[in-house]
Amino acid sequence: MTQVLADDQSRRFATRAVHAGAIPDPLAGAVMTPIYQTSTYIQDGLGRHKGYEYARTRNPTREALERNVAALEGGRHGFAFGSGLAALDAVLKVLVAGDHVVSGEDLYGGSHRQMTQIWARLGLEFTFVDGADARALAAALTPRTKLVYLETPTNPMMRLCDLAAAGEIARGARALLVVDNTFATPFFQRPLEFGADIVLHSTTKYLNGHSDMVGGLLVTNRDDLAERLAFIQNGSGAVPGPFDCWLALRGTKTLALRMRQHDANGRRIAEWLSHHPKVGRVYYPGLPSHPQHELACRQMSGFGGMISIELGTLERARRVVERTKIFALAESLGGVESLIGHPASMTHASVPPERRRAMGLTDSLVRLSVGIEDVDDLIGDLEQALAAAG
Ligand code: PLP
Repeated sequence: MTQVLADDQSRRFATRAVHAGAIPDPLAGAVMTPIYQTSTYIQDGLGRHKGYEYARTRNPTREALERNVAALEGGRHGFAFGSGLAALDAVLKVLVAGDHVVSGEDLYGGSHRQMTQIWARLGLEFTFVDGADARALAAALTPRTKLVYLETPTNPMMRLCDLAAAGEIARGARALLVVDNTFATPFFQRPLEFGADIVLHSTTKYLNGHSDMVGGLLVTNRDDLAERLAFIQNGSGAVPGPFDCWLALRGTKTLALRMRQHDANGRRIAEWLSHHPKVGRVYYPGLPSHPQHELACRQMSGFGGMISIELGTLERARRVVERTKIFALAESLGGVESLIGHPASMTHASVPPERRRAMGLTDSLVRLSVGIEDVDDLIGDLEQALAAAG
């Protein structure tokens, strides 16, 4: 079980991003956490060792990442996994067959697929509701509800859930509130401060920030949950390798810098798109026209680089995503490079069409992950793609 270091909790975000969780290497004094590329550790005698016995259970590089992200989220315990979905898998293993989960309906397609096609078969029951509607959330709770699962902002409709209201609702029902904070990152939003019990990340995205690894992470402040999650992390074994942990840890050092630029570029591009004659609706919480802009200003300190746009027809969406030259047509998000995607056929293809329609996720919706390149080059790229799309 990896616990944050006492000093790290008192420092400001950008300082924590660089330093939190680092322990000077005892062998050579390496300033940067080494990659402990080992599966096992020598023991001095039977039952006598340095606390490290086997690398599925503990690895110093992984622990440095876990401490770092836990400190950024304002939590005490961090747990790294081989992917964001492995982190979700670990969270749902806290429950037992017969338990009920209320989940926001607008969430990453793979999370929805895991819930409905793996966990529902094993006896968990799910109700999907509009997480932006606190009353609907409260109404969906039953005496068997043990967990409320939310993304905010949601992928890909950029809807917000009121974290303080959700925290209260979950607490009142003695259910855990789990928040996927992948889009906002702790730089802009810290769900534990609003009453969440567990924060989940796909570290594959902004935390790593360079699109060169896949990973997941959980953070909690609750010692009882931390004990359970540590058991599941080791017992199920979906742990990341030390090199991937090191890459993610290198990424988090620049999280503050990168998020400021994603946010500046995101705001400029969303504003520009909102006046473009070929673009219908622009979904971005930083726009005053976003129906939950006021809530965004209350619970987030910035809006980041994720934007979804409505292009009217599937054909036009296809032409735009196939014509951008800087924005690469690819799954995923949150890297320094700009990506463009078509949720209905890519990230959310596994969501049944009727549920996609209920979420407002049309076949003509395009999602942008705005990178940190020069914003005028990015606007120029979108302009030429939109112009050529007819
Ligand atoms: N949560 C969100 C919001 C995501 O976008 C994703 C992946 O796209 C995941 C979770 C799953 O993470 P991973 O792909 O690392 O398993």
